[in-house]
Amino acid sequence: MTSTRHRVVIVGGGAGGLELATRLGDRIGRSVDVTLIDRNRTHVWKPKLHEIAAGSMDLAAHEVEYLAQAHRHRFRYRIGEMIGLDRQRREVHVAASHDGDGREVTPQRAFRYDTLVIAVGSRSNDFGTPGVSEHAMKLESQADARRFHACMVNACIRAHAQTTPLRPEQLKVAIIGAGATGVELAAELHRTTREVVAYGLDRVDPDNDIKVSVIEAADRVLPTLPQRLSQATHDLLAKVGVQVHTGARVAEVLRHAVRLADGRVLPAELVVRAAGVKAPDFLKDLAGLESNRINQLVVRPTLQTTRDDDVFAIGDCAACPWPGRGTVPPRAQAAHQQAMHLYWQIRRRIAGKPLQDFAYRDFGSLVSLGEFSTVGNMMGGLVGGSLMVEGAFARLMYLSLYKMHELALHGPAKVTLHTLARVIARRTEPHVKLH
Ligand SMILES: Cc1cc2nc3c(=O)[nH]c(=O)nc-3n(C[C@H](O)[C@H](O)[C@H](O)COP(=O)(O)OP(=O)(O)OC[C@H]3O[C@@H](n4cnc5c(N)ncnc54)[C@H](O)[C@@H]3O)c2cc1C
Repeated sequence: MTSTRHRVVIVGGGAGGLELATRLGDRIGRSVDVTLIDRNRTHVWKPKLHEIAAGSMDLAAHEVEYLAQAHRHRFRYRIGEMIGLDRQRREVHVAASHDGDGREVTPQRAFRYDTLVIAVGSRSNDFGTPGVSEHAMKLESQADARRFHACMVNACIRAHAQTTPLRPEQLKVAIIGAGATGVELAAELHRTTREVVAYGLDRVDPDNDIKVSVIEAADRVLPTLPQRLSQATHDLLAKVGVQVHTGARVAEVLRHAVRLADGRVLPAELVVRAAGVKAPDFLKDLAGLESNRINQLVVRPTLQTTRDDDVFAIGDCAACPWPGRGTVPPRAQAAHQQAMHLYWQIRRRIAGKPLQDFAYRDFGSLVSLGEFSTVGNMMGGLVGGSLMVEGAFARLMYLSLYKMHELALHGPAKVTLHTLARVIARRTEPHVKLH
């Protein structure tokens, strides 16, 4: 509090915020106070959540402890959930944090800033559909992914132990939304449920008993990607037995079923929502900052919020202009690019130089269909337009997205060692988590 150094406070240690805190700490942490605030203690790259949910990824191998990361990279980490902002006093208000037994760990606090970066990501959007928030699981955090996985393994064990015939909804999973997240989850689940059963749950017949379906309101899966890609993905999913319902609007989610607007009822023991996102509710009218209809903070091309030069927003929670295309899409690659851009802009700001505009470069989209394939389209100068990619090359590009994130957090030496350790572990441990 007595320091005269420039204070950068970053709220949200996700794909964008943690990369920014790490880079600032590494490069200028000796002369600038960098503080990262997150409501969790550990970070997992969100595009990995569907793998945790399906059980194909070992969480421990990919989790980053904020405290340790901060210690190694010369920034401070403070736990807590941002609940308010005082722009006059330039203070971020953070709620008290509690342990699992409800005991207070940290009190309600305020953190002063000279530069504030809000990077709190997004939540799944229930679009006000009845029953969604009560009966459909979400996939927003490590806890959600772990909960889903436990429910899935328990469903298999329950079905195996049962002496009576399976009820219509048993061992059926319905995924609402066939964007990248829904489609990736469907493919992973199809494989991992079979692996769980193969560990001796021989009274479950995977082909007849387990059914994964995806429900999409648009007329095709991956509606924001090129038609050819949608078709290739649809064909792959159908080939392995994932049921695809396109042009199907969800009217209501019931305790063990999904009711569609056309009256059909799809029984399902587990329902997951993966359709559309919105920024957290507390950003709506946050201290008079401008927000849009999905609660994103509206920012200028400099990534500064429209009404306050000292407050920046990046990643999913920012509505950043993308000339001719609307706003920058909520993707990990956008959060990464904005974090890297903002690193340089914070340096310029401290040096009293004018800020430069952010320009989003769309490198295309890649969708992992587990062991079946990876499909995607690549964009930009490298391939001269838009090119559809599939198979081993697409898989390599997909993996490189995560490697870029890991490189930004740990540097090349540690990432190489981690990767080797994971390859060895994969050869010796079960391929699917059973707990
Ligand atoms: C299952 C899934 C799969 C995905 N797959 C892909 C993919 O293949 N490719 C792709 O490009 N994108 C993908 N995405 C989207 C991508 O994960 C996001 O675009 C990206 O993580 C956004 O980064 P961010 O930094 O804005 O937010 P996040 O990475 O979501 O981080 C937000 C951080 O803020 C913290 N936080 C939130 N609220 C508060 C608060 N009030 N106070 C303090 N801390 C707070 C959270 O704990 C979190 O650590 C996927 C998303 C999901 C859920």
